[in-house]
Amino acid sequence: MPPSRRSSITYCARKERPFSGPLTQNHETGNYHCAGCGALLFFSGAKFDSGCGWPSFTIPADSKAISEHEDLSFGMRRIEVTCSRCGGHLGHVFPDGPRPTGLRYCINSASLTFTREKEQE
Ligand SMILES: [Zn+2]
Repeated sequence: MPPSRRSSITYCARKERPFSGPLTQNHETGNYHCAGCGALLFFSGAKFDSGCGWPSFTIPADSKAISEHEDLSFGMRRIEVTCSRCGGHLGHVFPDGPRPTGLRYCINSASLTFTREKEQE
């Protein structure tokens, strides 16, 4: 049985205040890069509205772009994701995302910079 939306909010609530990040509601086509080092992390096509208030993605741009670490803080077992290049904290990945991956990469918008695919004049 999949967890409810409400439990997703609880999981995310330790990080940014919900819906405070500028990229959460961003639906433009482009690429999301690490705010620390500029590494390409996610494509906009993998972004989905999880309802949890943070930018959420089903799959990284490259499986080698991010590193996963077990995080046992706050009495929960979670998987922290960090940038493989600079080691910067990105967010967490949860096993309750949509198909096909079934994963939800819940990322702090402060950890991302967005580049539009085609700059509008
Ligand atoms: Zn980085």
